[in-house]
Amino acid sequence: MDTKTILIAFIIQAIMYGITFYVLSLKRKPVAFLCFTASFILIALTDALTIVQELLPIFFSLIVINTFFFLFFILMVFGFLFYLDQKVKWVPLGVILTFGIVSIILLTYVFPHYSLRIIVSSLTTNCFVITGYIQINTGLRSTSRNLSIFMFLLILFYSLINVARIISAIVDYSSVGLLTENITFNNIIAFLLLLSINLWTLLILTLDQYVMQKDLRTKNDELSIMASTDSLTGLRNRHLLEQDIFRFTALADRFHTPLSFIIYDLDFFKTINDTYGHDYGDEVLIKVTKAVQAKLRDTDRAYRWGGEEFLIILPNTSLDDAKFMAENLRLSVKQFFEEETVKVTISLGVADYVASEPSNHWFRKADYALGQAKQTGRDKVVVWNSEESLPLAFAKIEWQDAWNSGHDIIDQQH
Ligand code: GH3
Ligand code: MG
Ligand code: MG
Repeated sequence: MDTKTILIAFIIQAIMYGITFYVLSLKRKPVAFLCFTASFILIALTDALTIVQELLPIFFSLIVINTFFFLFFILMVFGFLFYLDQKVKWVPLGVILTFGIVSIILLTYVFPHYSLRIIVSSLTTNCFVITGYIQINTGLRSTSRNLSIFMFLLILFYSLINVARIISAIVDYSSVGLLTENITFNNIIAFLLLLSINLWTLLILTLDQYVMQKDLRTKNDELSIMASTDSLTGLRNRHLLEQDIFRFTALADRFHTPLSFIIYDLDFFKTINDTYGHDYGDEVLIKVTKAVQAKLRDTDRAYRWGGEEFLIILPNTSLDDAKFMAENLRLSVKQFFEEETVKVTISLGVADYVASEPSNHWFRKADYALGQAKQTGRDKVVVWNSEESLPLAFAKIEWQDAWNSGHDIIDQQH
């Protein structure tokens, strides 16, 4: 294929990618994507100038083209560094850029040397890609090892193109004429350059995909923590309790292990709030949680049921052991506030799960026991007494056949 045709294809593609990155910059990571946009527009411009190189004054055909080519790499490196939120190290890139431009100027105006200029420009390019890779790689590796390898191969690819140019310039510099000369070597170089901007684009877009997926995963994790955690105390919330409880009762049924519950509520908390303010009330809730957590075992699970009411699931714990634990918790809270100006106490209700009992029955038993603790003086533990029956409002009525009216529809509704 004709070298100029490949170079024109290159321009079209570079502009299209430049536009793509500009559109992306409107939505996300604007600085990084604008760097990529500028980088691709610049390389398209460099290529356009290369095509008309013979018609241009020497300043444009040598100095400007080479400078643009160097800036293409610098902007590409900046794009990656900004994208990965990495610190931009200006000095090494600035030193290489200065060395490149000064050398090209010297080898153009002061000691004009055709092949040496090609060698210097290829060397400078290589230094850019390698320095850039070293800077980018730290962030890239932590995002994806595969992308880091991809970039390494891309850098290797560039280095090989440049090494090939350097060797040709040394061995037979007439073979490395203007890029527009339609010779096999230039044909290959132009084709490889075309391939390279596609590879850069592939790398950027794949990186963007990786990062977006990672962000989404992090956001999902945060959301699931938010959905299951109480933001004030850090305890599990009621929503999670409703999910967990089925697993704990199923395990108790399956392995015939005891399962107990404690419900506790702060005493006269409204008075504390009214006297010292809501913020102080919040602090009290956090402190009570700390005092309770200090006594719980790893297998126990505490939940904020709502307001100033909390619930603890004690797997593999008998009613007697749960009572002992509840007493411990009561004392722990009391002792915690002994030194404080405001004395805070809690009342606790304890109950156990009886195999296959209706859902929430256990909760009603523990809540009833808590009510008893409140009614009989507070700052105490009351254990659900299995001899006792739940108050009517809590009792479940089992419909009996003898009560049927004989009317099918009415009886089904019962
Ligand atoms: P008792 O000993 O009978 O439990 O009395 P009490 O005052 O603790 O109970 P009551 O149910 O009358 O008041 C509970 C108070 O808890 C009322 C409400 O404003 C307060 N409260 C609920 N949630 C929070 C919270 O997140 N922060 C604060 N500071 N107060 C809360
Ligand atoms: Mg209370
Ligand atoms: Mg309450």
